[in-house]
Amino acid sequence: MASKQQGRSVFGSGADRICAVVAASTAREMAAQVLAAQHLTRTIELRLDWLTDQGQLLKLLHWIHGHRRNTRFIATCRTREGGGRSMLRDGAELVVLGLATASGCLWCDVELETFRSLPRGIVRDVVGPARVIISHHDFQRTPRDLPRLMRECHSYKADVVKVAANARSVTESVRLLKLTRQSRNVIAIPMSEAGMPARVLALREGSALAYAPVAEATAPGQVSLHEMKHLYRAHELTRRTHVYGVIGNPVSQSLGPLLHNAGFIAKKVDAVYLPFLVDDLVDFLNAAPEMGVRGFSVTIPHKQAILRHLHECDPLATEIGAVNTVVVRGNGKLFGCNTDYVGVLRALERRLRLKGSRVLLFGAGGAARAAAFALARAGAQVAVCARREKKARELARAAGGEALPRRALRSQFFDAIVNTTPVGMFPHAGASPLLAREVNCGIVMDMIYRPEKTQLLKLAARKGCEAVPGVEMFLAQGFAQWEIWTEQRAPEAAMRRAVLRKLRGDEHVARAAGHRRSGP
Ligand code: NAP
Repeated sequence: MASKQQGRSVFGSGADRICAVVAASTAREMAAQVLAAQHLTRTIELRLDWLTDQGQLLKLLHWIHGHRRNTRFIATCRTREGGGRSMLRDGAELVVLGLATASGCLWCDVELETFRSLPRGIVRDVVGPARVIISHHDFQRTPRDLPRLMRECHSYKADVVKVAANARSVTESVRLLKLTRQSRNVIAIPMSEAGMPARVLALREGSALAYAPVAEATAPGQVSLHEMKHLYRAHELTRRTHVYGVIGNPVSQSLGPLLHNAGFIAKKVDAVYLPFLVDDLVDFLNAAPEMGVRGFSVTIPHKQAILRHLHECDPLATEIGAVNTVVVRGNGKLFGCNTDYVGVLRALERRLRLKGSRVLLFGAGGAARAAAFALARAGAQVAVCARREKKARELARAAGGEALPRRALRSQFFDAIVNTTPVGMFPHAGASPLLAREVNCGIVMDMIYRPEKTQLLKLAARKGCEAVPGVEMFLAQGFAQWEIWTEQRAPEAAMRRAVLRKLRGDEHVARAAGHRRSGP
């Protein structure tokens, strides 16, 4: 993509190019959001269409008049047709924007449809001295003829043109970002979860603004203001920044962005890690060079399929038949390897002499394969038990271990049992893959890391087994990825802190919600 570095836009420079979106039903809540946003940026969009009535509107505008110093307020009154909540039609929303201008909003956002429906010149007359963003929203698709759309927008002589469109793939989001090459006064917003990485990268490509909500999301695929500034550091990214990410579906719950970005921040590495929602691998691989992607983690459902697209693969990953880490070499060639392997070993070998020990893997999917090969190579006797006995037999054979039927678990003892199934994972945290009488071992490891303490681990602790949470494997495989990409030691303490803080915070929220539900 163009190497145009746009340090300064019409909205200023640095974090002021991140526009905080303030949206709530009352003036009081909107004012509270403005105060919170002012700590992070001096550019704030007021979604006036979210207010429930005119009384709230007047209250808010009166308050804004007293708090307008040092802030560039953008007034928006989005109509239903434009994806907003205002019932006003036929340009009547301009009256609201006129009031906002009179209260000190320096900018107004007016829909292209409003310009189209009114005689030329009216918008300027009503919004007075405010500068105007002309915006076009398409919640269905990325318009095919973007150049024509841009020509039309420019013909109305607005100060800035904003195009927000549903990006159904990574390629579509790249197409939208390319709009920002044309002029400094363009805002490109790829909507949808697939477009989320491009939202973060928009500023470095030259978009005049990137939008991020203070509280509730107002459009698909948004990143919160706090994350946009502190986790992804959107305003600091340049064309020199190395882009990494996780590809898969789903990815929205991935802790990878927290883990890796915490490492980049701690070690001051000019890099960012983003969640890429990818259904179509080829689409992503075609768009990756345009986005400057230098490496990526691979998760469900692409861990096996990615092998076909690699130029080179670590022999161990080939043997396992799954890749979770890809490095994009300088010449664009893809190299794949598997750090789940390292993750299992690091989590277990601290507690157990693997050589000669007997380890049961419950489940026979991709993660089980990595574990089976890792443990067998470390000298452990591997047993595999899975709901489909054929799969257990295949894996056991490949790794040189034994397959066991489920009924055998009651009467056998293992040094360690590793759950490799998703049973017990959020949001089904109440389930356990094994019964108490099937847990006969010294150590139980659960690969699931959400929640941190699964039902299986609780059950294991009650039986006096040592419980190893999946987050240990997650962290270890992540540290290994980070080191492969950056070629330096991972700042493990900072990365671990970021992930555990999030996991424990989420569990605290879940517990509080549970108490509220079961409360008096
Ligand atoms: P996968 O390839 O889909 O394999 C899942 C395995 O679990 C399959 O053997 C599947 O059996 C079995 N399974 C699914 N539902 C089951 C049920 N209700 N009862 C019994 N068995 C069931 O997935 P994966 O990539 O191996 O991942 C498995 C788990 O490990 C996930 O929870 C994942 O988040 C976790 N994981 C954690 C880490 C980490 O770093 N901590 C790394 C990788 C994976 P069928 O083949 O019969 O469907």
